[in-house]
Amino acid sequence: FKESLQEIADVAPVTLDKSYVNLHANINSVLEIDQVLRNGASGVGLFRTEYLYMDRDSLPSEDEQYEVYRHAARQLKGRPIVIRTLDIGGDKKLDYLPLAKEDNPFLGYRAIRISLDRKDLFMTQLRAILRASHYGNVKIMYPMVTSLDEVRQAKALLEKAKAELYAQGLPYNANIEVGLTIEVPAAALIADVLASEVNFMSIGTNDLVQYVLAVDRMNENIAHLYNPYHPAVIRLLKHVIDSAKSVGIPVGVCGEMAGDIRALPIWLGLGIEELSISVQTLLQVKHRLLSSDAKKCKQLVNEILVCKTSDEIIELLAQTEQTES
Ligand code: PEP
Ligand code: MG
Repeated sequence: FKESLQEIADVAPVTLDKSYVNLHANINSVLEIDQVLRNGASGVGLFRTEYLYMDRDSLPSEDEQYEVYRHAARQLKGRPIVIRTLDIGGDKKLDYLPLAKEDNPFLGYRAIRISLDRKDLFMTQLRAILRASHYGNVKIMYPMVTSLDEVRQAKALLEKAKAELYAQGLPYNANIEVGLTIEVPAAALIADVLASEVNFMSIGTNDLVQYVLAVDRMNENIAHLYNPYHPAVIRLLKHVIDSAKSVGIPVGVCGEMAGDIRALPIWLGLGIEELSISVQTLLQVKHRLLSSDAKKCKQLVNEILVCKTSDEIIELLAQTEQTES
């Protein structure tokens, strides 16, 4: 099966009725880019930069980060690469940056909240990303945004970083695209407001599901309650996608649900434009995409949206899978 999947690496990701979906890859390290290219991904939809900061004993310098981002941008030869700014806190720790102990780390000092507090760290990263943007199709994405104010603050710091580089005569893409992840319910509900401030959005379902359902994604005792097919999740996903479309910016998905074969009809039915998936599952999703009919998925989603329980939704999806095969 693996070998036959490799044959579709270069086939365009379109459904039977000609709906095109960008299939991008999620990476934690630039070492994965070879695989990204081999599996025919049209770009990197999520580069989790925190891994650059982990397993070491001090912060990576601007130059160090710049080298890594530039290498990635060059290797992708014009394909987009979305660099997500530091997303630590929650489950991810840095030994050399002690964070106060918290009762609820996932509701605490995390991601963009740290970046806006530790502007020194953030500016170093923004400068490194901007400098790399000169060498490819680099985009920047802010994690865990909750309010418009946070987006505006981050954008102001980005402008400040640009001004510094300009003054120093260092090249960067002045029109670099800026996006944010939708992974907090508050952000999902005001997605139209946030969308009007950025160039693109990507739904982080891993966190969005945990926050919508109030189910810690790391807690094994309640893992059975962590259910991306809960009707509340599906309704919220529709709201976010519709909001982005109403403003006219592209919206993608970068959580694990993007790579869940079972969820594909939902994405097609909701009209998603991009799925960013781990390199390991990308071709399996493409395989199903090639034999899917987006129009039928739209009808299916209408049925799903009136389901009262996740079991009903999962049952509908299972029936679809059977009729396809
Ligand atoms: C997500 O939350 O869905 C996501 C893509 O980010 P991470 O898994 O790194 O939190
Ligand atoms: Mg997340």
